[in-house]
Amino acid sequence: MSNSLNQLDHINYRIEQALEKSYRSAAVQADKKVLLLAVSKRHPLEKILVLYEQGQRDFGESYVQEALQKIQQCPYKDIIWHFIGPIQSNKTRDIAEHFQWVHSVDRLKIAQRLSAQRPENLPDLNICLQINISEEPQKSGFSPTEVFNALENIINLPHLKIRGLMAIPRPESEFELQRIPFRRLNELMHKLNEQFKLNMDTLSMGMSGDLEAAIAEGATIVRIGTALFGPRET
Ligand SMILES: *Cc1c(COP(=O)(O)O)cnc(C)c1O
Repeated sequence: MSNSLNQLDHINYRIEQALEKSYRSAAVQADKKVLLLAVSKRHPLEKILVLYEQGQRDFGESYVQEALQKIQQCPYKDIIWHFIGPIQSNKTRDIAEHFQWVHSVDRLKIAQRLSAQRPENLPDLNICLQINISEEPQKSGFSPTEVFNALENIINLPHLKIRGLMAIPRPESEFELQRIPFRRLNELMHKLNEQFKLNMDTLSMGMSGDLEAAIAEGATIVRIGTALFGPRET
């Protein structure tokens, strides 16, 4: 049986080690923090509660119906819920009403709907634009070139806070190869900040198998599922 306390400690340790290494190489500013997003999709609420009791507050979900059930049943109201999955237009209202973050905004239309449907009494919705950084034909996300056009429209939408970029690069096993798309994502965010006079501060990149490479290239959020919770149930 895997022990959740050990898993959480272990991942936090990996994050700390990777950060220290990146300070030493001066790739990353010494005051930088990395947020661990616990990806709880396809895991029951009970497992979320165990990590919560160990101090974890940010959880990521990919399926709207499943997430809403957990959010509604969860006794803790200070959890920060992040939506990280593919978004169908008919699900944007539920997402806008129940999440604080959306990492997977991959079309202008989705941004427009989230903006229109974000309840007035809630803070602006934090969004990341998903980038198809390895430019794979089947993958969702803006291409690194078309994101410039999209952002021109997205910056004018109310009730959204454009926090940064998210990517799921093509898997690679070697550290130096893993770094390349993460570096490109970081550079892209800086270009977009310059061109649009934005202050995006979030790079949502790195998963169980490549979090060290992502942190070496400036990740500010790593999204970890399997390495925290074990294999998913379905
Ligand atoms: C499932 C998922 C993760 C977590 O993946 P693991 O391999 O289980 O760590 C991270 N990001 C996204 C977008 C996901 O859908």
